[in-house]
Amino acid sequence: MSTRSYRERRDFSRTREPEGGKGQAGDQPIFVIQKHDASSLHYDFRLEIDGVLKSWAVPKGPSTDPREKRLATPTEDHPLEYADFEGVIPEGQYGAGTVLVWDTGAYDNITTRDDQPVPASDALANGHLLVRLHGEKLKGGYVLQRMGQGESVDWLLIKIRDDEADARRKPTSTAPKSVLSGRTIAQVAKEERDS
Ligand code: MN
Repeated sequence: MSTRSYRERRDFSRTREPEGGKGQAGDQPIFVIQKHDASSLHYDFRLEIDGVLKSWAVPKGPSTDPREKRLATPTEDHPLEYADFEGVIPEGQYGAGTVLVWDTGAYDNITTRDDQPVPASDALANGHLLVRLHGEKLKGGYVLQRMGQGESVDWLLIKIRDDEADARRKPTSTAPKSVLSGRTIAQVAKEERDS
């Protein structure tokens, strides 16, 4: 897997986003969800798999309600260093807008087939990936399910029914701030403008 498509879309003399290439894989893979106030607000859901951040744009953000199926559109692989990127992507640049780290932590791949564990890269290729998140806001199982065949089709992100499922919580509304800096989107945007 490569982040070439990521690099080709960006002018690193203009944006403060990381160029990548220095990423060090830790012991346990991480996930990150970045709130991205771009031309339309969305949440970028990223999972570390094989040295890159596999990425989906989730317009409505993740839910803790297992009845909610959230559309998740695949986007280009991002470098591991992107996981702690917060800031403003300048006008005219790809993804122009403000980014904050809405949640992050370790995750476990819990995908199985016939009671056997399925490696994350295989699960991804099969279009069916189960993960257990160990975030600050999101915990427990989520399924990423592809809705058809091919590269460009959409996926769904759905909470698994477990002890952490909660139909009433709505963390995108009640917990909007960055888990890294405690800032809101407006504060990130303002502080970057003023700096
Ligand atoms: Mn985005």
